[in-house]
Amino acid sequence: MMFRCRAFATVRFHMDTFISYYVESSLPEKTVEAMEREVRRCELLFDRFSDSSEIARINANAGNYTEVSEETYRLVEEAVKLARDNGGYFDPTLGAVSDLWGFGSSPRIPSDGELSSAMEHVGYDRVSFLEKDGSFFVRAGEGQSLDLGGIAKGYALRLIREAAEKAGCRSAVISFGGNVILAGAGPEGRNTFSVGIRSPKEDSIAPALVLNLSGGVVSTSGSYERFFIENGVRYCHIIDPFSGSCAAGDLVSVSVVCGDPVEADCLSTALFVRGLDSALDALASGEATGVAIDSAGTIYVSPDLFDAVDPEGIAEGYRVEVIG
Ligand code: AMP
Ligand code: MG
Repeated sequence: MMFRCRAFATVRFHMDTFISYYVESSLPEKTVEAMEREVRRCELLFDRFSDSSEIARINANAGNYTEVSEETYRLVEEAVKLARDNGGYFDPTLGAVSDLWGFGSSPRIPSDGELSSAMEHVGYDRVSFLEKDGSFFVRAGEGQSLDLGGIAKGYALRLIREAAEKAGCRSAVISFGGNVILAGAGPEGRNTFSVGIRSPKEDSIAPALVLNLSGGVVSTSGSYERFFIENGVRYCHIIDPFSGSCAAGDLVSVSVVCGDPVEADCLSTALFVRGLDSALDALASGEATGVAIDSAGTIYVSPDLFDAVDPEGIAEGYRVEVIG
């Protein structure tokens, strides 16, 4: 028997941000519920602010091995590998520094002394792994605090995409705090998906740019996401692991287009930390495919995305430059 495909869209709140679902399948509400179960499971495992999460348990027991599920073990292992592959610009051991800046609760500028003590606890190479008799153990270095905030949403999206495939979705677009997956064919029988790259301007609802893509993942890290301004300086939730600073420079946002949501989530964070010049080098050289927006309103597009740019989708006040 053939089931008719229906569309269902809804918005929920997880990991301190919104997740929006658009699903075309024979039972789309059920598909979304299956996806929601995955997201809730990820929250239970990885939310370091919830005392019972496995990440919180690793942190509370830092300096010693903590037994965790294989899933948490594999994700921490992947996070450490990504940190290494990205030259340390992405670092999942920044928890002590994140806490000082207080983006989760009450943001403030820490003193130099506080920052340098917290920085002593940063270093992905101090995380150890042990697999024994089918059990899995992770040890954060003494005083360290793991923070998977830079990839947890990407990981949840990886599971969500698997759920979309399992449910035989004709089309699915799921956007989770700056990361969006495009699964199946385009919505409503179209060949492509239109993805808006958010405008960093506070008063703008229209996207800065629209890309027409045939699938994959787009992850964006930007200084407009969680920030505060003091004495004219904008401080945002993305931290430089080498200095502990989170002052935003000329790079306002960077979006990465790739096949894997975890890699995209990590890479957008790492490129944001690297700053405008280095991010543009990465986009021009083919190291990454994506879009960077600077504070003057220039949208830099990597050469392999030239055909994806919707000429009608460029917001007023922006200009597009293809680099490379
Ligand atoms: P995203 O929005 O994906 O760029 O991730 C930002 C989140 O990742 C922050 O809220 C922190 O929890 C965490 N984070 C901040 N800076 C870094 C960094 N340099 N490397 C890894 N995670 C980071
Ligand atoms: Mg990210």
